[in-house]
Amino acid sequence: MKQVSVLGSSGSIGTQTLEVIRQNGDIKVVALAVNSNIGLLFEQIREFSPELVCVYDEKSAGELSRRLKDEGLKCVVMTGMDGLIACACHPAVDVVVTSFVGMIGIRPTIEAIKAGKDIALANKETLVTAGHIIMPLAKKMNVKILPVDSEHSAIFQCLQGAQGNRPEKILLTASGGPFRGKKASELKAVRPEDALKHPNWSMGKKITIDSSTMVNKGLEVMEAKWLFDVEAENIEVVLQPQSIIHSMIEFSDGAVIAQLGVPDMKLPIQYALYYPERRGRTAKRLDFRELSGIVIDKPDDVNFPALRLAYDAIKAGGSMPTVYNAVDEIAVDLFLHGAIGYLDIADMIADQMAKHTVISNPSLEDILELEHNLKKALSGLNTR
Ligand code: MN
Repeated sequence: MKQVSVLGSSGSIGTQTLEVIRQNGDIKVVALAVNSNIGLLFEQIREFSPELVCVYDEKSAGELSRRLKDEGLKCVVMTGMDGLIACACHPAVDVVVTSFVGMIGIRPTIEAIKAGKDIALANKETLVTAGHIIMPLAKKMNVKILPVDSEHSAIFQCLQGAQGNRPEKILLTASGGPFRGKKASELKAVRPEDALKHPNWSMGKKITIDSSTMVNKGLEVMEAKWLFDVEAENIEVVLQPQSIIHSMIEFSDGAVIAQLGVPDMKLPIQYALYYPERRGRTAKRLDFRELSGIVIDKPDDVNFPALRLAYDAIKAGGSMPTVYNAVDEIAVDLFLHGAIGYLDIADMIADQMAKHTVISNPSLEDILELEHNLKKALSGLNTR
């Protein structure tokens, strides 16, 4: 029986992962980790009986321990980064699902790889900021990095038919989000509740905002570069507003292979958990007779500058993608709390990138220190 650990089990990917595990019924959940949602974690402990859980927030961890004791449930409770790493490295675990949001996922992912665990990677920030550390380490430790991100899963699935032929180009699809076709002047007044409505995908808050600004696609270009060892100039973003084509690869003879399906994260999650096996699913299927056409569009770099900024960050290399990612994390949080406007998100990223002196080949300590310093400098910001 495959044994897994889910880091971020109360989030969107985490809960969908447990749903896939529940539906299949043949994977053992060994460890679960959450930030602070102990209400949901308690229910998950009751259902999946993990041996170990981590609640990152110490106070909530104490509360959970008391509740478990009151109910007579046995499970080791840890807290903080030590707890996350223990969940990632539990000796019984085969696959670690990294579905934590943000740069908090980097250290547990590195430790899991060192411990020889395969990674079902949903935490894109890990590759964005530390791809140059993660990918060689995974190769050295002979562990698989299985993409959970739908576009990267699509590319990974397309590559199964490549027989070792390297694709010349990756065509990364994007929905364009809820504001596709809008001008900057119209975007100025966007409120958090407007940006939190994604037309196709149901996702966590941070990624939903990132999808609307195109930052998510910028991060995914970086992610694809590391996962598939392709230069950024060979990764082309294509808008596909219905989110039916999940991405494509193009070979040197001009042939294009695509992966299509209804937008449902449980498919890429299940593919990563059971790779290379395909399991049945009872979910809704694509019905081509109902499909009147597949819409394709070009990204709008003028009104949505964040994608172009991502290419600039890749070109600058070293620590610049960390700046792109960390400033976005801070800016999205400020936007959600009403402290900055919608267009300020991309402006803040551009501004901090312009001020940053690149550290080439940054160590994990360099990356975490840079994030810490940016957070310290920017999180009190209020332009309202
Ligand atoms: Mn994606």
